[in-house]
Amino acid sequence: EERAREILSAVEGRGDNRLGVEAMDLLDAYGISTPDGDIVDAPADALEVAERIEGDVVMKIVSPDILHKSDIGGVKVGVPNEEVYDAYEDLVTRARNYQPDANIIGVQVQEMVDLDAGVETIVGMNRDPQFGPLLMFGLGGIFVEVLEDTTFRVAPVAESEAHEMTEEIDSAPLLRGARGRDPVDVEGVTETIQRLSQLVTDFPAILELDINPLVATPDGVQAVDVRLTVD
Ligand code: ADP
Ligand code: MG
Repeated sequence: EERAREILSAVEGRGDNRLGVEAMDLLDAYGISTPDGDIVDAPADALEVAERIEGDVVMKIVSPDILHKSDIGGVKVGVPNEEVYDAYEDLVTRARNYQPDANIIGVQVQEMVDLDAGVETIVGMNRDPQFGPLLMFGLGGIFVEVLEDTTFRVAPVAESEAHEMTEEIDSAPLLRGARGRDPVDVEGVTETIQRLSQLVTDFPAILELDINPLVATPDGVQAVDVRLTVD
């Protein structure tokens, strides 16, 4: 909680209240696992991170003005080391074209997560004036708006409630291994919902937060993307 407080106050000093993948550390501080990666502000540093990670990487623009990164071509998946420089420049160019005065913090270089073996889910929170912090769980990634397969609870939730959420959505069978696929780590999903519940309970200043996707595989869960708004 101490570390999370530091991270949040650093953001408040920045003078805007929207945060993207810079908030990955906040998730880490609450034990929500995230892929290996770092945010850098120069192509050479991006390459250094990519070489450390080994294998192809994902690169994403990091800007409080660009919260839906894919919409502007701000996410590149499967970038080999030799393309990291060009990818960096291209991401920044796209961001500038989209919004010339965008505050560009840099580029996130992230380990690839195996989406084929997993299910993209979403775990989120929205503070409702009447009900308080509403936790949301559902199918994530590109399907979230299309299918609207979601379920809600007021935070804080007990483990049993968090578990119920994973059973309630229409796509629940997907998590439990439909069509001969291995079941994903549902316990990890349940734990993540609870950890998020704890985070937003500890920090009333967090007005909304989305982990989308939280990729659930048979081996565990990974928070691949996050965005949040603070008071
Ligand atoms: P945004 O939601 O702002 O467009 P994301 O970080 O969620 O950006 O990336 C968009 C999509 O790209 C994800 O939903 C996922 O399908 C894919 N993606 C992002 N990061 C990774 C990763 N580390 N490994 C594999 N796929 C990824
Ligand atoms: Mg996303």
